[in-house]
Amino acid sequence: MKGVALLVLVGLIWVYQELFTAEFYQRMPWQPLDVSAEPDRFTVTKIRRLSDDLLACERKLYELGVSYESLPDRTAGTCALDSQVQLNQSRYPYSAPVKGQCALMLSVALWEKHVVAPAALEYLGEEPTRINHSGIFACRSVRGSQRISEHASANAIDISSFEFDQGSVSLLGDWGEDTSEAKFLNAVQQGSCNLFGGVLGPEYNALHRDHFHLDLGNYRICS
Ligand SMILES: [Zn+2]
Repeated sequence: MKGVALLVLVGLIWVYQELFTAEFYQRMPWQPLDVSAEPDRFTVTKIRRLSDDLLACERKLYELGVSYESLPDRTAGTCALDSQVQLNQSRYPYSAPVKGQCALMLSVALWEKHVVAPAALEYLGEEPTRINHSGIFACRSVRGSQRISEHASANAIDISSFEFDQGSVSLLGDWGEDTSEAKFLNAVQQGSCNLFGGVLGPEYNALHRDHFHLDLGNYRICS
């Protein structure tokens, strides 16, 4: 009997040491976002929570070393734009201004650091010199449906290609090939799923053959 009790005790100590470590606790969804931590499946939940707290969201951009400015609330047609910020300088320059909901901008800045940079270094040996996006805000429904698009609240960004010193890597030209460029794009898509609620690419449908749609809607889709 004593032997069993001892075994149970040793087992409990093992479970405690393995699971309930500081790192384990830090990763739990109710913990605040740690911008330096490797994103995992709970990261989107932590970012979404900042959608309701503009100051806390901006503090995270500051922690990331991103230069940004807050934009005034406004309406455009039937669409309301609030909690908006513009990234003035993040890790990479973009083809067009990067402005939208703060939480989305935070996901983009985290994505550059934790997803794009490591994938680019691993597969292409260099970081992008510029990222091309084809839009954030668009006051419209999802194409082919009545549902309001995440773009209508500037809560989605469409990424079409990445510029490098040695050339451009695009969804339209490189996706699905047996090349380092395609592996880079694949790794970017996989990594994006820990930082955005909705990640749609060429495999999702023909409308996405030339871009990754990345949004922070209240659902999880990674396709
Ligand atoms: Zn989109």
